[in-house]
Amino acid sequence: MTIEKSKPVLLLGIDLEDVREHVSGGMNYRDRLETNTQVILQALEYWGVSATFFTVGSVARRYPSLLRDIALAGHEIAAHGDTHTQLAKMGPNQMETDLARNLDALSVSEFGPVKGFRAPTFSLTQDTQWAYKVLADAGIEYSSSVLPGLNPLYGWPGFGRRARTMPSGVLEIPVAVHSRPLPPLPIAGGVYLRVVPFFLTRWACRRGDREGPITAYLHPYDIDTEQERFMHPDLNNNRVMNALMYWNRGQALDRLARLVKDCTVSRYCDWVRNCGLGKK
Ligand SMILES: [Zn+2]
Repeated sequence: MTIEKSKPVLLLGIDLEDVREHVSGGMNYRDRLETNTQVILQALEYWGVSATFFTVGSVARRYPSLLRDIALAGHEIAAHGDTHTQLAKMGPNQMETDLARNLDALSVSEFGPVKGFRAPTFSLTQDTQWAYKVLADAGIEYSSSVLPGLNPLYGWPGFGRRARTMPSGVLEIPVAVHSRPLPPLPIAGGVYLRVVPFFLTRWACRRGDREGPITAYLHPYDIDTEQERFMHPDLNNNRVMNALMYWNRGQALDRLARLVKDCTVSRYCDWVRNCGLGKK
């Protein structure tokens, strides 16, 4: 990774999960994960950038060749929980078991150990910060699991916007959020990338990385214009939020492409190694 001083750093994460697993009767819907992920892989290759794939264990077990395609293309494989269960629904013991299964599923041995973690639905909050010890005990070096703002589902408003090393030794890289006068919504992630007017997203990125890197994330479904309609999980059956889950999917990759042009794109592991905050 070559850092151009004039360009902000964009940490690019793909959250690899299959929402159908968490919907009643969901596996009766068409399997779109592999197709969409291959489209994302082609886009990354075309742009000439590498990303970090935060991968759920069940997905890794179901698509072993896809996992190898991702790793062979030079992308980083990181953990995203074995069953995509929010941390508040697990205690430390259950998370320990879940994470061990997740890491086992991701162990594509020749590509080295998994260093990174993202909590499902950014569920690492003030109340679940016990998770950092579980992560450290499992050998995880960094996490990007905190939304430093309020959200109906999650958030840790007092965390601050800068990456910092937690007492367990794990580096937390919080999600980059908008500054005032906008509410602290993620700048370039999933539904926010699709729903927030793009000039605001671009403006936020062009302001530079004064408080840390821009974090962008995408799920395979974020680009899927052909997915059947169903109520997505973790939305408390909120119909408005579910409508947003389908909003503007046809624009997601195009918007991301424009951000990629404006930024220096990095895998999380490379940025952690270069920023001097990671494990010595
Ligand atoms: Zn997720």
